[in-house]
Amino acid sequence: MNDSLLLLKDISYSYGKVKALDGVNLLLTPGVYGLLGPNGAGKSTLMKLLLGFLPFQTGEGSLLGCDVRREKALLRRRVGYMPEGECLVPEMSGVEVTAYLGELSGMEGTEAMKRAHEVLYYVGFGEERYRKAATYSTGMKQKLKLAQAIVHDPPLLFLDEPTSGMDPQGRKELLELVREMAALKRMSILFSTHLLPDVEETCDRVIVLHRGRVLATEALSVLRERNGDAVEIETVGPREPLLERLAREGCRSAAMEGERVRVVLPKGLPPSRIWTLAGEADTPLRRFQPVKSTLEELFLELLEKSDGN
Ligand code: ADP
Repeated sequence: MNDSLLLLKDISYSYGKVKALDGVNLLLTPGVYGLLGPNGAGKSTLMKLLLGFLPFQTGEGSLLGCDVRREKALLRRRVGYMPEGECLVPEMSGVEVTAYLGELSGMEGTEAMKRAHEVLYYVGFGEERYRKAATYSTGMKQKLKLAQAIVHDPPLLFLDEPTSGMDPQGRKELLELVREMAALKRMSILFSTHLLPDVEETCDRVIVLHRGRVLATEALSVLRERNGDAVEIETVGPREPLLERLAREGCRSAAMEGERVRVVLPKGLPPSRIWTLAGEADTPLRRFQPVKSTLEELFLELLEKSDGN
């Protein structure tokens, strides 16, 4: 049995002279992936190619064991897609839109309607599901978009900026649903976003795209391990003598709220080295608190390294 989720070989894509993807190779097993990258990195182009909205120019790809170029109809039944933009018909009610899109994904009419009620209930809709989609708030529209993406119970779900424009409560609920679908329904998910906290809260692995190339495909925990520890410190008196010594040993520091400074150590340098250097610099420490490196720090470091090449 082929248990690969996604296999891409040498995928490039250009819009005229603009090269959006540049030799992408990827092999993913089932799981929940954050697709990360700054604007223009090629995330949407990659998703559109995988969904069959754009034609292949080079290379080949398979999703869930299906050839992306040749088995589009089969893939439509097995992949759910929550687009970033609008995909709702304003004049239709939530339940009608969901059932309609279910039919477009290959479901039979009665079954699509039954499932539409179920998935709308699952994402938190009550009687509102009979109202026209045009009257929904942004949060409700996002949930409706999620419902239509899962109406046919696909084993793979693409989410494009799913929390975009949502308030904190709506965002929390949506991320909770994503986690639950991954854990209970064993759905594989490709989650494209520029919001790193969304990825930290839902994904176990990340794919980092930059200028059309894959910079890293890694488990978040491995990405964290590749980098050293991070510590928040606060000094008594001027901190520059200590920060200069830390920089000479490869540490990166960033000023935080108040007098705090966040120091990210290079891999292999133990946090206790900060105490030693503080002694040498005659700079007593008032605060020394080990913290986890944020995904943002790890991400920026990857981009910096790649730009330095
Ligand atoms: P992301 O989703 O990561 O922001 P995109 O895939 O949208 O990246 O874009 C990748 C590159 O392709 C960018 O340089 C972008 O300007 C360019 N691009 C995207 N869509 C088009 C298009 N329809 N026509 C011309 N260039 C495009």
